[in-house]
Amino acid sequence: MKMIPFNKPYLTGKEMHYIYQAVYSGKISGNGIFTRKCQEFFEQKYGFRKALLTTSCTDALEMCAMLAGIKPGDEVIMPSYTFVSTALAFVRAGARITFVDSHKDYPNLDEEEIEKYISPRTKAIVPVHYAGIACDMDRIMDVADRHNILVIEDAAQAIDSYYKGKPLGSIGHMAAFSFHETKNINSGEGGLLAINDDRFIRRSEIIWEKGTNRAEFFRGEVNKYGWCDTGSSFLPSEIIAAYLWAQLENINEIQKKRIALWEKYYNGLEGWADGNIKSLPVIPKYATNNGHLFYLVSRSTDQRANLINRLKENGVHAVFHYLSLHNSQYYKNLHDGRELPNADFFSENLVRLPLFFELTEDDADMIISLIKGL
Ligand SMILES: *Cc1c(COP(=O)(O)O)cnc(C)c1O
Repeated sequence: MKMIPFNKPYLTGKEMHYIYQAVYSGKISGNGIFTRKCQEFFEQKYGFRKALLTTSCTDALEMCAMLAGIKPGDEVIMPSYTFVSTALAFVRAGARITFVDSHKDYPNLDEEEIEKYISPRTKAIVPVHYAGIACDMDRIMDVADRHNILVIEDAAQAIDSYYKGKPLGSIGHMAAFSFHETKNINSGEGGLLAINDDRFIRRSEIIWEKGTNRAEFFRGEVNKYGWCDTGSSFLPSEIIAAYLWAQLENINEIQKKRIALWEKYYNGLEGWADGNIKSLPVIPKYATNNGHLFYLVSRSTDQRANLINRLKENGVHAVFHYLSLHNSQYYKNLHDGRELPNADFFSENLVRLPLFFELTEDDADMIISLIKGL
């Protein structure tokens, strides 16, 4: 029986070559040639005012919380149906999280619900573009501007995806991307902070470099450097940046393949889904699909368990995810007690199918027929 894993990180072929180059260049700490190549790529292709590689998306969000000046007693608004990291940095800085429910028919937060949870203590909104599908950013930016609060996009899954033609991650005041091995573009672990508001650029480089103005020193803008702010060691080494560069050189090919597989699943299941399960992914008119993940929503948790078991018996590994954060062991006693039924529904019914570069069309066909045979 052929085993089909849930994910397999794709190697473009140049990774080891660039790593070799980085290692033998004699400069393997952070902020070297490959780091700068990657950062310039993001700034040019997606129009971020400043791009900084980080060791993870979690770390990029940590930098966002520092830049936003989050302190105890502040409030931050975000969806509950998301990965832990969306909340972590803000909770660590002492903020209280106000969770907003998902839309009824897809997991992104319901933009219309945001405004009623804004209080004088609200400092930021953190929308998550689930599956790389854009939140309604015009609405979110409008609410944020009227209340003078920041928007930090959790764009972990949203590389090369767009909202009304604008790249995700370029719209909020700042944004965080992930290059974890499960994402479209990966470096094992890795991330990116994108800054779109000039007010934060200088400080972002200082926080990135352990609270020092070393980046300015390297550019020759100051003649000595020292400790000037809070910060940490958020830079990845050149070895990671070299790996990432090989991926970025192939981004168009990677995206094309993933989107084709996504569409194969969608077209193969479309007619059947009506009447058999709750739904397939929903993509609003203003959003694009970046082929990050393909999911189904079952009618019941039993139906989902049957589906996952049937696939497993045939060597196919499908997974579900996100115990809503408002129900998590860590946060449930800190949550304000509101029910978030749509987030819970996705926790209980959403299932992800294998989707990776080396998945073949035949594999996808086989998975489609197993599902339809349910
Ligand atoms: C993957 C992911 C993260 C975390 O990314 P890391 O690079 O592993 O830190 C955060 N938020 C969302 C929505 C994610 O999917």
